[in-house]
Amino acid sequence: KRRIGVLTSGGDAPGMNGAVRAVVRMAIHSGCEAYAVYEGYEGLVNGGNMIRQVHWEDVRGWLSRGGTLIGSARCMTFRERAGRLRAAKNMVLRGIDALVVCGGDGSLTGADVFRAEWPGLLEELIKSGELTAHQVEPYKQLNIVGLVGSIDNDMSGTDATIGCYSSLTRICDAIDDVFDTAFSHQRGFVVEVMGRHCGWLALMSAISTGADWLFIPEMPPKDGWEDEMCNVITKVGTITCPKSPIMKCANPLCNQNRKERGKRRTIVIVAEGAQDRQLNKISSSTIKDILTQRLGLDTRTTVLGHTQRGGAACAYDRWLSTLQGVEAVRAVLEMNAQSPSPVITIRENKIMRTPLMDAVKETQDVTQKIHDKDFAAAMTLRDAEFKE
Ligand code: ADP
Repeated sequence: KRRIGVLTSGGDAPGMNGAVRAVVRMAIHSGCEAYAVYEGYEGLVNGGNMIRQVHWEDVRGWLSRGGTLIGSARCMTFRERAGRLRAAKNMVLRGIDALVVCGGDGSLTGADVFRAEWPGLLEELIKSGELTAHQVEPYKQLNIVGLVGSIDNDMSGTDATIGCYSSLTRICDAIDDVFDTAFSHQRGFVVEVMGRHCGWLALMSAISTGADWLFIPEMPPKDGWEDEMCNVITKVGTITCPKSPIMKCANPLCNQNRKERGKRRTIVIVAEGAQDRQLNKISSSTIKDILTQRLGLDTRTTVLGHTQRGGAACAYDRWLSTLQGVEAVRAVLEMNAQSPSPVITIRENKIMRTPLMDAVKETQDVTQKIHDKDFAAAMTLRDAEFKE
């Protein structure tokens, strides 16, 4: 029986368990055996009981569970060829020659490196006497298929990564909660959300909650953004006092105008990787100080942190991870030596296969990433001028 391994690697994301469940069950359904590799590449390098056969009922109830139940890790040893040699040996000893990897672009790059080196790794293991040619013979080809698990939605070539909608849902819920208290006390809140390089979560949560202003890494604001932000928040220059210069924002009375218009709460969302055009970090405390000092607005900061990562997978991530896990096993079984490793994507609601390294390369090209997803949404937002 063919043996298919599955592992989760890099940052955990809700929906990873649904993906593992689907891979395990589809593998068994297709007449194969399924193996879970624990703690990401660490399990592959260390072998032993970190690679375990998984049966149909072992993954029961996993669809809704957050995080990853088979563990994830950043594994330095797998970055070295020596680590990948140990991983190859463990796989041959366990009879596994197909791997479904669920992780971010780093994890998928690692998987592709491993596949490219595979024949060379086996030759080296024979030469050093660690394996015999006879042992290696049935496992000449390694099949790798990627699934993108990431809360950031930071992979090109796919409309959504497994986990991003669960995270977005949690962020929106948290901002709704903050809205209530902001409204009660007529306060401003600066909410920091995850996204070191990719502002998708910040952008989508700003649209979904009707936030007043937004900072994302892909679109550093132009110089003088402080005035513009204050202006939009108070609407001094456009609605309340059309004749007053922007500098009027320094006048605490502007805050009065804002209140007079019945605006009781102000929300600014900032992605953790936001910067200005001089590459200075725009932090939640910087924004808070500006709102407090210029507008006299009682402002608090809320850093949502790891609550954005944990928790049950939302419905979207449950079906996405299930359909993609099923497709990953299909892809494993249809691959030949010539076919490039695929990553399973979703485009216009269709589950598809895309060459893994094409998606990774596009992702690393930041410009492409902006045009790919964020840019269109950002333009929509700008058109709407963050209307309340
Ligand atoms: P993510 O998958 O979320 O992008 P990382 O970039 O930290 O997270 O990658 C996760 C793991 O994948 C690393 O700890 C390492 O074991 C493996 N990995 C990443 N890049 C490579 C690479 N170029 N070669 C080999 N392994 C890699």
